[in-house]
Amino acid sequence: MHRFDTALIHAGEPHPRIEGAITMPVFQSATFEPRGASNYFDLPYIRLNNTPNHRVLHARLAALEGAEDALVLASGMAAIATTLLTVLAPGDHLLVQESLYGGTHDLTCGELRALGIESTTIDAAAPATWAAKLTPKTKAIYVETISNPLMHVPDLAAVVEFARAKKILSLIDNTFATPLVFPAVRFGFDLSLHSCTKYLNGHSDLVAGAVVGSAELVKRVRHRAAHLGGALDPHACFLLERGLKTLGVRMRHQMASAARIARFLAESPAITRVHHPALADHPQHALAKRDLQGFGAMLSFEVRGDVARADDFLRRLAIPANAPSLGGVESLVTRPATTSHSGMSAADRRAAGVSDNLVRLSVGIEDPDDLIEDLEQALRIGQ
Ligand SMILES: *Cc1c(COP(=O)(O)O)cnc(C)c1O
Repeated sequence: MHRFDTALIHAGEPHPRIEGAITMPVFQSATFEPRGASNYFDLPYIRLNNTPNHRVLHARLAALEGAEDALVLASGMAAIATTLLTVLAPGDHLLVQESLYGGTHDLTCGELRALGIESTTIDAAAPATWAAKLTPKTKAIYVETISNPLMHVPDLAAVVEFARAKKILSLIDNTFATPLVFPAVRFGFDLSLHSCTKYLNGHSDLVAGAVVGSAELVKRVRHRAAHLGGALDPHACFLLERGLKTLGVRMRHQMASAARIARFLAESPAITRVHHPALADHPQHALAKRDLQGFGAMLSFEVRGDVARADDFLRRLAIPANAPSLGGVESLVTRPATTSHSGMSAADRRAAGVSDNLVRLSVGIEDPDDLIEDLEQALRIGQ
C-alpha cells in the first residue's frame, strides 16, 4: 500500500502498461466486446461507468480513502442524488446537517420529499441533540466535512459513532476536504461523496462526481446509476485522472496560502469577521484539529460597511475572478447572498449567519504574496 502522493499517481494504473503508454490512454468507445463478462453490469459500456478509464479512477479514489471500491459519476449532484435514491426508499427518514450545499438542500426538500422521504436538520457540532431527532424510519445521517459558506465542521467522530450505535448509514459530502484532509471511509464513514469538479480535478474544466465506500454499498449505487444514467464520459475521466495526480501538491500549497490569508484578513481593520477552521476563534477549530489533516483552502469574511462596499471590493480585486464554484488552481471569489444562497430570503440568510456582505474566497495556487497584496489594495480603497 503506497502513501497518499504515490497512490495519486499510480493506484489502479494498468499492468502491464497499455502499449507501454505512461499515461492512461482515452478509450473513447461506447461499447466493447464482452471478453468473458457474465452479467449485464460487467459488460463495458459508458453508461455503466465501467470502461477502462472509469476503472482506473475507481481503484485510485478507493485507494485514497482506504476504501474497497468507488464509482465516478457525471457530476457531484449525480453522485449525491444517486446515492440518496439508493439508500433511501419512500417512507424513510434522513438526518441532515443544517447548512447543506444548495443543490443537496433543494434535493432533500424537493424531489426526496415528493417521493415521501423526509429530512430533519441537526446541529452537526452538537451530538447530544441528535438522538431526539431519530425516528423508527431514520436510515442515514448526512453531513459535509467543511460546510459552505461558514466552514463549519461537524463532530465527525461522533457522527460515525452515532450511526454505528443506531444502525444507520453515515454519509458525508467530502468535497471541501478531499481525501488528503479527511480520508472519510478510513475514518469510519459508510460512504464518502465528492464533487470531483472542485479540488479532485482542480482545473475548473469539467464536472464529475464520485461515491467511495464498501464494495457492497458502491455496487448498489452502481446498479442504481445504470438506470438513472449519470455516466461520466471517458474523456472527462481522462481529464479527471490527470488533474487528480497533482491533488497533494496543489492542496497543500492552497491550504498554506489560505491560512496565511485568513490571518491577514483577521488583522485587517476593513474586515469584521473571518471564517476559516485554522483560526483559533473558529467555533470548531478544536474539532477540525482533532479529526482533519489540514483546514482546507476555503475561507469567507465580512467586509466592514454596507453591501455596496463589499461589491466595490470585489470589483477592485485584480487576481481572483468573481465566479461561483471552487477548488481550482485559480482563486475565485463570490458573494454567497447573490450566488449559492440567493434562493433564501434575507431573513433566512441572516438566521444562517450569511450576511449580505459576506465574501467567500477559494484560494488558488497563485503566489500568496500576490493574493495578499491584491486583497490589501482592494480593501484600502475608500478607507
Ligand atoms: C459543487 C458541490 C456539489 C455539486 O457538485 P457538481 O459537480 O457541481 O454537481 C456538491 N457538494 C458540494 C459541497 C459542492 O461544493
